[in-house]
Amino acid sequence: MSNLLEQAAHNLARNGFTVHIADSEAEAADFLLREIPTDWSVGFGGSISLDQIGIYPKLAERGNPVYWHWQSVPGLSRQEVQQKASTADAFLLSSNAITASGAIVNTDGYGNRLAGLLYGHQRAFIVAGVNKLVPDLDAARIRIANQAAPPNTRRLKLETPCAETGYCMNCDSPARICNATLILHRQPGAVPITVCLVKRTLGF
Ligand code: SF4
Repeated sequence: MSNLLEQAAHNLARNGFTVHIADSEAEAADFLLREIPTDWSVGFGGSISLDQIGIYPKLAERGNPVYWHWQSVPGLSRQEVQQKASTADAFLLSSNAITASGAIVNTDGYGNRLAGLLYGHQRAFIVAGVNKLVPDLDAARIRIANQAAPPNTRRLKLETPCAETGYCMNCDSPARICNATLILHRQPGAVPITVCLVKRTLGF
């Protein structure tokens, strides 16, 4: 186990978060399937990491009502899916950066992932590959500006300067995806958060 992974896991737990370490994508998905009751509804934040561990179809197949704005739900508009996700029993997301001191840092364009960590759910689960681990908050900001946001704007085909340059220009673009940042220093009161650290490179 790398030193950074050991430190982050130890300090996340010290900060009041529940921590699980998974060796693989499949083990992370199995962990979530064990932790989430079969009758719970499950909302998703936008996340390549969640896509990579394949948890959405597994939950859907066993009957959990699942709401992810990346997936169509018969009879519901995209906005209605997002609304359902915002009040689901469990909320799944990833993180843009997790520090060695056990802080969780996420930056959003809309803020739905950030809201999901603060209220509206019985539990929240963050799935993060070891590529999201950073030494400190400065490194977290640098990671988001240069490793997380630019490839996301390319993926979303947004017209931002970083989509061209590959690094942050602190833009004024209407398409800017870095509008709100939430740093969780410790477990807040409303939604118990479990962090599943996966020994793989996942997402951006
Ligand atoms: S602020 Fe603008 S340029 Fe910087 S990473 Fe975000 S979207 Fe890209």
